[in-house]
Amino acid sequence: MSTAGSVLDPKTSPTFPIAARATLEDTQLRKNVRHATEVIQNKRARVVGEMPDWQELRESGRQIREHAMANMDFYLEEFERNCTRAGGQVHWARDGEEAKQIVTALVKASGSSEVIKIKSMTTEEIHLNLALEAAGVRAYETDLAELIIQLGHDQPSHIVVPALHKNRQQIREIFQREMNLPELGEKPQDLADAARRFLREKFLRVKTAVSGANFLIAETGGVCIVESEGNGRMCLTLPDTLITVAGIDKVLSRYQDLEVVLQLLPRSATGERMNPYNSIWTGVHAGDGPKNFHVVLMDNARTEVLADGEGRQTLNCIRCGACQNACPVYRQTGGHAYGSVYAGPIGAILTPQLQQLHHAQTLPYASSLCGACYEVCPVKINIPEVLIHLRNKVVKQKGPLNPEALAMKAAGAIFRSERRFRAAQRLGRIAETPLVRKDGSGEGWIGWLPGLLGGWTQVRDLKEMPKETFREWWEKRGSRGN
Ligand code: SF4
Repeated sequence: MSTAGSVLDPKTSPTFPIAARATLEDTQLRKNVRHATEVIQNKRARVVGEMPDWQELRESGRQIREHAMANMDFYLEEFERNCTRAGGQVHWARDGEEAKQIVTALVKASGSSEVIKIKSMTTEEIHLNLALEAAGVRAYETDLAELIIQLGHDQPSHIVVPALHKNRQQIREIFQREMNLPELGEKPQDLADAARRFLREKFLRVKTAVSGANFLIAETGGVCIVESEGNGRMCLTLPDTLITVAGIDKVLSRYQDLEVVLQLLPRSATGERMNPYNSIWTGVHAGDGPKNFHVVLMDNARTEVLADGEGRQTLNCIRCGACQNACPVYRQTGGHAYGSVYAGPIGAILTPQLQQLHHAQTLPYASSLCGACYEVCPVKINIPEVLIHLRNKVVKQKGPLNPEALAMKAAGAIFRSERRFRAAQRLGRIAETPLVRKDGSGEGWIGWLPGLLGGWTQVRDLKEMPKETFREWWEKRGSRGN
């Protein structure tokens, strides 16, 4: 099973407007994304509505995360002390490269050439599977959605439901082909049974596991993962060696904080009152679970985000994906258009900060700023505020002499003078004439503009200028004395 193929990386992916144009043409994908996000949103609204103290819970969640991030250095060291005392080994990784080297070396030292993996966006972020493959280690995803993505040689498009863009028929085709099951039935139960049989053999055979983490608990040195299928629990308990890769932003100060976040997360993520499987493990225990336990704590630009007073709230994210389901832009384009494993509103603010901004300059603009993401965020991250902050940074990064800034300056000069504005309108009407195409209802549209202006028509059509402006109509009306 190869994990090779294109990866979602802003350094190599097309920009958002270009990629979005392509995904918008895929009507099946749009239908799948719309349907799935609608179902999850409705479920979420139902279970959130049951909670009379939801807003208070959100506020508690915000405070818990803000406190942990403001004291991150202290709590990470506390986590290291307590985890080590319980028999775990903590490794520190400055960036993705270092994390990959550490994990690869640990897997090799475990004597295994295969690993089972439980869903981890952090390992997706650093493309760990490719690094393992290059080192001769085969990785098997065990989260059902991640397995679909891996077998389909695809990329995740949602942080909670990575295969949200696939419908049941497409998943069946993937399983038939990759598991060699020509007789596979169509019912969800048939697909679940096929996945169970496929994975059970891996659970029983592979002796090394790589996991992510939903939370790191400083007070106990414990790690927490929540999931719906129980496949994660198999990875966390059956192998001899367990390697957990976690971003340093996953830390919580106290065990009791789970009381709040474990109410907020499942409701916001999948509309469940509680995750069916909640695993919390601390170090190693003789005769119970893995004999070796490692935690790789990875920075990968998170401390830089922390240092940015306005962008820092991004780190409060508990990866529930509610903002993706609520976002009118994501619901049209799906996740791949974002060119990053983090898609939707959270991707639009997290990716440009984790990767260098100049590789993801279009992402802060991939939003209508409607605020739907802010409204649903269980820890009250003000995503529109961070988007504006990042847009400011993009403008500064491009410098005062970039063509867009010069065009805006020229537009400003035109708008400041009525005479210039009227002249520009007249000139525009003459200039557009050869470019206008009429649609079926006789409306004029421009699908191509030359030079810098082509940036607009590359991703959207422009309406023909009206034959008569409001001012002209008003003046005529006045002269007629009506
Ligand atoms: S930003 Fe908020 S809504 Fe979006 S994934 Fe993170 S916690 Fe969930």
